Amino acid sequence: MPKILIIEDDIQQSTMLSDYLSGEHLDVEACANGRDGLAALKKDNFDALILDVGLPDMNGFDICRTVRGFSQLPVLMLTARGDEMDRIIGLEIGADDYLPKPYNPRELLARLRAILRRGRPGDVSPSLRFGRLEINEAAHAASLDGEMISLTSYQFELLCVLARHAGRVMSRDQLMDELQGHDLEAFDRSIDVHISRIRAQIEDDPKKPRRILTIRGTGYVFARQQD
Ligand code: CA
Repeated sequence: MPKILIIEDDIQQSTMLSDYLSGEHLDVEACANGRDGLAALKKDNFDALILDVGLPDMNGFDICRTVRGFSQLPVLMLTARGDEMDRIIGLEIGADDYLPKPYNPRELLARLRAILRRGRPGDVSPSLRFGRLEINEAAHAASLDGEMISLTSYQFELLCVLARHAGRVMSRDQLMDELQGHDLEAFDRSIDVHISRIRAQIEDDPKKPRRILTIRGTGYVFARQQD
């Protein structure tokens, strides 16, 4: 039975969620603040963490960052707000998924099951799959909805680097470091040009990208959670 930790200070919500998830054959433990939550995570082996952003003693983002310092545990974040900034911050600090409150418990369960599947060690496939986007590094091929995407080899490498670091903000310098040895097209401005060519292929609306996000003044982040 997968073991789930909930860190949520709203006792009523926490109890409701615990009862619901227990009824779905999950082994649930709950903590009402960040300090107890981190102590529980260090003491026991959990399979996933459901983490509220607004807690009395610590911010959920700080807790997630701390957890990433010692664990690759799948993290689903809950927040009262649903704005884009929270989503980006959540992805940047390494959360696996993100759900604005009020949430539907069934949707939460579906997303929890998805991150539990992804987090299971041992079933690493040669393809990276992000929703409808599939990247097969070995075959040097990517597809969206099963349709092959046409990229130059440099752009394909750039996409792979971003995807391998999904959820982490990559500066242009970091991207260029990772791409060393792959052609010589890499001077600062050209990264942006290549990103826009990649977006033209993989984004439903390249003007409103949801797969490769721009972090102003910093670089780019490849979204872990994609549809
Ligand atoms: Ca709260």
